[in-house]
Amino acid sequence: MHDEPEVAVLRLGHRPGRDERMTTHVGLTARALGADRVLFPDNAGQSLETVADITDRFGGPFAVELTDSPQGIIRNWGGRVVHLTMYGERVQDVESDVRAAHRDDGESLLIVVGAEKVPFDVYEEADWNVGVTNQPHSEVAGLGVFLDRLFEGRELESEWTDADREVIPMETGKRVESTDEE
Ligand code: SAM
Repeated sequence: MHDEPEVAVLRLGHRPGRDERMTTHVGLTARALGADRVLFPDNAGQSLETVADITDRFGGPFAVELTDSPQGIIRNWGGRVVHLTMYGERVQDVESDVRAAHRDDGESLLIVVGAEKVPFDVYEEADWNVGVTNQPHSEVAGLGVFLDRLFEGRELESEWTDADREVIPMETGKRVESTDEE
């Protein structure tokens, strides 16, 4: 995970107001399920603040950034690019190739998710266009399943640093403890 080559998530497109929660949830899902960094378009400052605030409170390491050129990030990415799309190859058919590039060849990964229509250039620039089923659903669901496949469940054991609070798992009820005294 965090001792492996970087996994970054790029949110392509953001309609202020309409996409606020989805963009925020792309960031929160990336953080919770093992990615190292999320990049939002530069009109998504409110989502950046929410994700940064959650990272401050619940821990990291995790970075959230804005970019004024999301497609420039794709073009100039030094590792491999995975574009999640319902039109892509089946995740179960390509996941081992992506894992091999990441874990065996040491390639960083950029995982791209869209909002509205994704420009065709992105399909051409991606190393893999990957469908989590070939049915229409959500960037948050696609990202969650893809990260779990990439990390083979290891992300569920993540340890968090610099948190000021920790949720204690319970059969019933809600318990959150402060980590300040440690
Ligand atoms: N209609 C848009 C298009 O054709 O590009 C996509 C809109 S969809 C609501 C938003 C994003 O969710 C997509 O860009 C893609 O990243 C993700 N997504 C939706 N269904 C998916 C699927 N079956 N597999 C992987 N990603 C998916």
